[in-house]
Formats: sequence, C-alpha cells, structure tokens
Amino acid sequence: MVTIASTLQAVKTRIAKAAQNTGRQPDEIMLLAASKTNTAEQVKEAWLAGQTIFGENYLQEALEKIFVLSDLPIEWHFIGPIQSNKTRRIAENFAWVHSVDRKKIADRLSRDRPETLPPLQICIQVNVSGEDTKSGVSPKFAADLAAYVVGLPRLRLRGLMAVPELTTATALQRSQFRMLRNMYDQLRQDGFDLDTLSMGMSEDMDNAIAEGSTIVRVGTAIFGPRRYPIPEELAARATR
Ligand SMILES: *Cc1c(COP(=O)(O)O)cnc(C)c1O
Repeated sequence: MVTIASTLQAVKTRIAKAAQNTGRQPDEIMLLAASKTNTAEQVKEAWLAGQTIFGENYLQEALEKIFVLSDLPIEWHFIGPIQSNKTRRIAENFAWVHSVDRKKIADRLSRDRPETLPPLQICIQVNVSGEDTKSGVSPKFAADLAAYVVGLPRLRLRGLMAVPELTTATALQRSQFRMLRNMYDQLRQDGFDLDTLSMGMSEDMDNAIAEGSTIVRVGTAIFGPRRYPIPEELAARATR
C-alpha cells in the first residue's frame, strides 16, 4: 500500500533534488500540501507524517476540516478563488491567503481579520498566462495592487502567487514562472519587503523551483488523484 508518509517523503526528495540542481538550499522551499477534496483523515495522516502547512480552495469544505482537526496546530492557507461574501470566514480561519487579486477582496479581508489574530499573510495572485478563465490580477496592475495591500492595517504582504497554464512545454512553463519571478524582483527593488514566491504544483514544481519558487503547493503527488474532480478539471475535460 502507498502511504501518505511515503509520497510525502518522495515529494521532499524531489524538492531537494530540484533545489540542488540549481544551486539552492532545500530549506529555502516550503511545502504546502494542497488538500482540496481529500478528507480530514488524509490531512491528519499527512500531519502525523510531519506535514504542518495545508492549502484549501473551497471554503465550506475547508471549514469542516479545520473544525474536525482543530486540536492539531496546522497552518491553514487559502489558495482558491475568493467571493466577497466569503472574506469574513476566510479572515477568521486562515493564516495565509495566496489568491488576493483585487482591491475589494483585500479591503474586506483586512476589515474582517480579527484583532486577536496576527495580520493575515498575503500573496497577490497574478494571471501570468493571460487566459480569460484564470483568476489573478493582470501583470500590469500587480504593482498597484501590491501598494494597496501594503497600506491595509490587518494584512501583511509576503509575495506573489501564480497558477501557470497547464502545459508540457517546459520552455513556456518556465517563461511564465520567470515572469512572476521578474515581477517579484522588481517589487523588491522598488522597496517592497517580500520573501515569498508561491509557484509550482505536482506537475511543474521542479521548473518552479529552478525559477526561484519559495512555496510549492502540491496536491496529487502527495494524496493521489482527487476524490472528485474540481470545477476547473471538469471544464478542461469538457473542452478536450
Ligand atoms: C489544486 C491546487 C494545487 C495542487 O495541484 P496538484 O496538481 O494536485 O499538485 C496547487 N495550487 C492551487 C491553487 C490548486 O488549486
């Protein structure tokens, strides 16, 4: 039987190799386990194997797991699209949000972040592939949004996040990661205090690490195929 402990170890080995191949230290790269559609029991199994950071995409599903696992000191990250009526419960239940892509959502997350908690850690999601269906701020407005987030009292801007176009063309994939990396370097040059590039998933984490990723968000390589397909995957199948 393939255990989560063994797949988790394999992913860590892959991260370490990808880091070494490009002269980076493995501990520069944080592993976020993307647990959407997987059960609280699976999350717990991963936690028992040493994984402490988990990412969720769907609020209702996430809240159920957070509740069931509330005795474990898990750091929960929200990585999915955000509707404005969901900001309060996101601000109350997560340590990080990777998918901020407009001012209205940033405003509401700051307003809704409880005073009893530390500031909400934020990545701005950038639409690096330019696909209409993708979430994320357009690259040309990212700096403006970054300046806006920095001005909000209950948010702490950490960096940028992207979900590039799914492609087996390594050059295209790397160019999209590099675009995010260049935007990140430019923001830092402009004085933004950033330390996070959230990029890389099961299929493409090696390339993302080569391009400077500091957080990889990995689901299927840890948990196996999703228990039910997510809307984006159903849409992709329908057009095939
Ligand atoms: C599902 C998801 C991941 C993980 O994808 P895998 O291909 O299963 O590794 C990473 N980031 C986001 C935003 C996701 O929705």
